[in-house]
Amino acid sequence: MAAECLFCKMISGTIKPQTVYEDDKVLAFKDINPQAPVHVLLVPKQHLATLNDLDAKNADIVGALVLAAKKVADDYGISRSGYRTVINCNADAGQSVFHLHMHLLGGRLMHWPPG
Ligand code: 5GP
Ligand code: ZN
Repeated sequence: MAAECLFCKMISGTIKPQTVYEDDKVLAFKDINPQAPVHVLLVPKQHLATLNDLDAKNADIVGALVLAAKKVADDYGISRSGYRTVINCNADAGQSVFHLHMHLLGGRLMHWPPG
């Protein structure tokens, strides 16, 4: 846990997000500024600032995030219509919260390439 980290505060319960899924490795909650009808953030319970902090020792986090996203998409009923998962890493990608997280976006037609 990182004391000043917004998402760590959600994981510890200091701040209560709108949780949609939780397991031993992942917390998933609604984004406060949704960019699609479904916009959920999936965060590992272990504090890692960015994707660059992933390595062989904590690679299980990647599988846990992806499988949780798949489950949340299914729960929202968008598995067949489609959805997008995104991990922004550092400045050029527009990362604004430095606790690794995966966006799950769906419920509308997505465009490519993203801006
Ligand atoms: P990033 O830009 O780092 O990839 O994504 C950070 C996301 O966190 C943004 O989509 C932003 O709307 C969301 N966010 C920022 N602050 C809060 C908050 O206090 N609560 C929730 N639920 N989402 C937040
Ligand atoms: Zn954190």
